[in-house]
Amino acid sequence: MRILALAFLASSACLVAADAPKLRLSADIRPTRYAADLTAVPATATFSGVVDIDVTLARPASLVWLNANDLTIQQAAVNSRPAAVESAGGDFVALRLPAALPAGPAKIHIVYQGKISANSSAGIFQGEDDGTPYLFTQFEALDARRTFPCFDQPDFKTPWQLTLHIRKTDKAVSNTPQVSETDEPNGMKRVVFAETKPLPSYLVAFAIGPFDVVDAGKTGRNHVPVRIITPRGKASQAEYAAQVTATIVQRLEDYFGVPYPYEKLDEVAVPLTFSFGAMENAGMVTYGQTILLADPATDSINRQRGYASVAAHELAHQWFGDLVTTAWWDDIWLNEAFATWTSSKILAEWQPDWNSRLSDLQSKFGAMGSDSLVTARQIRQPIEAKDDIANAFDGITYEKGAAVIRMFEVWTGERQFRAGVTAYLKRYAFRNATANDFLDSIATASKPQLARAFKTFLEQPGIPEVSVELKCTGQPRVALSQKRYFPLGSTGSQGTQWQVPVCVRYQAGDSPATECFLLDKPSAEFPLKSASSCPAGISANASGTGYYITSYQGGLLEKELGDGSEWLNAAERVTLLHDLKTLADSGDAKESAALAAARTFANSKERQLAAQAREIVGGARDLVPPALRPNYAAFIRKTFGARAAELGWSAKPDDDADTRLLRASLVPFVAREGRDTALQAEARRLANGWLENRTGVDPDMLRAVLLTAAFSGGQDLFDRLLAELKKTQDRRERGVIVAALSSFRDPKIVQQAIELLFAPQFDVRETAGLMFSGLGDPQTQTLPFKFVKAHYDEVLKRLPREGDFDAAAALPFVGEPFCDEPSRLAFVEFFQDRVSHFLGGPRNYAQVLEGIRLCEAQRAAQSEDVAKFFAQQQ
Ligand SMILES: [Zn+2]
Repeated sequence: MRILALAFLASSACLVAADAPKLRLSADIRPTRYAADLTAVPATATFSGVVDIDVTLARPASLVWLNANDLTIQQAAVNSRPAAVESAGGDFVALRLPAALPAGPAKIHIVYQGKISANSSAGIFQGEDDGTPYLFTQFEALDARRTFPCFDQPDFKTPWQLTLHIRKTDKAVSNTPQVSETDEPNGMKRVVFAETKPLPSYLVAFAIGPFDVVDAGKTGRNHVPVRIITPRGKASQAEYAAQVTATIVQRLEDYFGVPYPYEKLDEVAVPLTFSFGAMENAGMVTYGQTILLADPATDSINRQRGYASVAAHELAHQWFGDLVTTAWWDDIWLNEAFATWTSSKILAEWQPDWNSRLSDLQSKFGAMGSDSLVTARQIRQPIEAKDDIANAFDGITYEKGAAVIRMFEVWTGERQFRAGVTAYLKRYAFRNATANDFLDSIATASKPQLARAFKTFLEQPGIPEVSVELKCTGQPRVALSQKRYFPLGSTGSQGTQWQVPVCVRYQAGDSPATECFLLDKPSAEFPLKSASSCPAGISANASGTGYYITSYQGGLLEKELGDGSEWLNAAERVTLLHDLKTLADSGDAKESAALAAARTFANSKERQLAAQAREIVGGARDLVPPALRPNYAAFIRKTFGARAAELGWSAKPDDDADTRLLRASLVPFVAREGRDTALQAEARRLANGWLENRTGVDPDMLRAVLLTAAFSGGQDLFDRLLAELKKTQDRRERGVIVAALSSFRDPKIVQQAIELLFAPQFDVRETAGLMFSGLGDPQTQTLPFKFVKAHYDEVLKRLPREGDFDAAAALPFVGEPFCDEPSRLAFVEFFQDRVSHFLGGPRNYAQVLEGIRLCEAQRAAQSEDVAKFFAQQQ
């Protein structure tokens, strides 16, 4: 990226580059207010702007550094005196003054032009719905600088006043209400927005186009108006969002004990997003259209629950992130982990029937998968380069962060924890805060060790493995010890210790009791105070709220998996099953034991427990020798087939939501991995019918039907799907068709799917993912790597790489399924020097490489045991 500076001093370029900030601007010059005036029209390539920035200088300066990226600065002045513009790198620009400015206030005035992106979501970008163009913005983390020359850091929070010049036929929305609208020549109008509360640049936003506006009522104690902003003609698709959004805000407000901080809430549908799904801009949240909108006639349970969960996350950010903002990107967990944790809390309380706490466990397990790597990030990872900012928005920040907060919330007590949250939000309202500020607010007299204990999870990577033994001579007690969990083949070494809050739930007389202990040394024993005799049942991770792996000793595991499991609640059983599989991956248990346990729980009442069982069986597939694949498929049919057959592909009128959701995950699993040809044929029949006239498939099953049809389908079906993709404008249909195009197994067809990356008639934001087609199947898993190698330069040219989200950083994922030395060496040879050119690429590369090594080790250690297990399954 570069900056085109028209008024520059070429001779001083080297000097400026040497002086340029590396990552952060100096705190000596701080903005105090912005007024930005932009002219932007959809379907054009550029926009023009004028920005006036009030700043305060701590000491005299003749050079003012700002952030700017891909902006052409035409004119700049400080205190009405012209300034020369010098650029350095892709992120910084300097205004050089003929004489030093004194300390104190100053005014910067810049006239400039910028680019509107047509193939990314960086800065101002285009979106099209039904052939009509719109403009949207996305600034987090580092892309406000593509729209304004500004002090683009989260610690610079100031009021912003925005004025937009747009076509008369368009509407505009931004963070604040519109205060005036005035006609201008040439079919244009001037729209002025109210000044914002103090905001960091990354939370400023606007959208322009011929929108429909749906009134979604008022919310909170300040009766804030809520609106859903849809593309023209899509108002009816806002029905569900309009129904539930005000309630979600109300519940958040009630929990936080602080009113919704802004004067209005607009929820804006963005036809296509690339680097994000939804964004918490203060007072103006943006969502990928298929998250926010759905035709009520074809809406699904998954879509509605997905919206509720994403909305609760983004709206929680209005407090955690917007009202109180992280001081720097190393504490982005204060935004993201909290929004994730709050969303789970709100959903669990608002819709207890959804059992969302059980589904949340899957997210935690996903984060544990990454966290078992030696190359795992810490939740609070120091930011040393832009790469670290690009990598910071990962499962460790979101899901491990949320799980660790939940663990400490339970240990502290939900009421006391909430009081700390409220105190924190009130103390730092409209300001910035750090991890220490938060931990100080939460620490209570009853838990003075909280901050220290919390930091052992915040500032160290990895998962504690807690070994548990029940001792029943004398007063019953648990003996606990901890070590860092490493999978087979890991090069990690011990040495990490945590202060782990361990909550134990056990049978004490007629009723269960829960006690929490802080394991703050390598090992310790704790008496179970309420147990008068040896407990018949025990869970060392009560309700699965701890962030650790439990390794039961002394016959406890066998007991838990046998009669003892009756006594465990669903979350504990899901956790038990997950931990057993995880211990098999480290060699502390046998894969066959995990498979046997999966069989035991396969037909559990709770669909999340059955899903965990499927996860274990599905995960074993690549350990099965080719000759035993038929046995593997037969095992799946025998274990899961009866239930799948009973459910079938079509919903019955009196099915409850859990049954519908179970069907959508179980039936395709048996059809594909169980090679159930009858189910496959039925999926193809239903898919063809749906492609013909859009009927015959239950909305909850559409994805499962199309993907399964593709799995067993041939060229005809591929061609048909592709023809439909060229025809349909419906975002939901397009999304599911693209996913189906990616799900074929015939290598010739997979190759065609991959090559759609280059198809000029499609928006690359929609087809980029097709490049990874075939990774899930042994027959085709090398095709994406071969494609990237053969077309490297064209791939780089085609992928969205503007702004701080570099799609090329995902390229190393083509090596994710590799599991042997020759593939690993080829992967290293191709990528090791190239990844440093992709922002955020080096860590992705290192993690994929580590994953390949671990897979090789696991295959070497477990294949024999797995083969024996499946050889016995006829
Ligand atoms: Zn978020």
